[in-house]
Amino acid sequence: MNIRIDTHVHTFASGHAYSTFAEYLDIAKKKGIEMFAVTDHGPEMPGASHIYHLANQKEIPSEIDGIEILKGVEANIMSIEGDIDIPVRILKKLDLVIGSLHPPCIRPMSRDDNTLTLINAIKSGNVDIIGHSGNNAYEIHQYEFVRAAKEYGVAVEINSGSFIGNRKGSWDNCVSIARIAKELGTYVTTGSDAHIHYRLGDFEKIYKIFDTVGFPIELVITESKDKLKNFLKQRR
Ligand SMILES: [Zn+2]
Ligand SMILES: [Zn+2]
Repeated sequence: MNIRIDTHVHTFASGHAYSTFAEYLDIAKKKGIEMFAVTDHGPEMPGASHIYHLANQKEIPSEIDGIEILKGVEANIMSIEGDIDIPVRILKKLDLVIGSLHPPCIRPMSRDDNTLTLINAIKSGNVDIIGHSGNNAYEIHQYEFVRAAKEYGVAVEINSGSFIGNRKGSWDNCVSIARIAKELGTYVTTGSDAHIHYRLGDFEKIYKIFDTVGFPIELVITESKDKLKNFLKQRR
């Protein structure tokens, strides 16, 4: 398997990431990455840039040297109502919005409440992708979550950053989420969650999950640029 689209990348502007946009572009060329989404953290993440940084991404061309760039954000889901830290007027300017749970912004709750939070974010229409739902810091009812994503046309991210650092132990969750997505026909996306450019498109662990569950490529929205663009077009 060789997926050349990465929907989850952090630059220096996220506050705890280490590479510039130019470095990502450079390594994308070297690695044969065709498209990637810049998804710096929303402003409620400690150390994240001001909202103007996200809003001003029109400065970034949509294509440079044949590599297509999506302007996005990894928004913080802030409450059980599923609201996020980006106003709608700014969401409208972006190509792609990931919504994720992060401990500085929303503390882990009961399994029922964590699930309700994600489902409310899905229902809000404000997020295209739910990020790293396999994170074992937030227990969820996986089946209900993946079913809601299917129902509302939101993609579930399989996140290769989940297997390093503080989300270690998420492997079994990611496998079972992928298994449920296969069963229900829910779209998934591939995100490296790179916080340094070397990790762009680093999907080996994701391929292993896909192999483990026999995941159908038809449900992977990052299979091709057109497929991802069509998915996003239908969302907007
Ligand atoms: Zn995240
Ligand atoms: Zn991230």
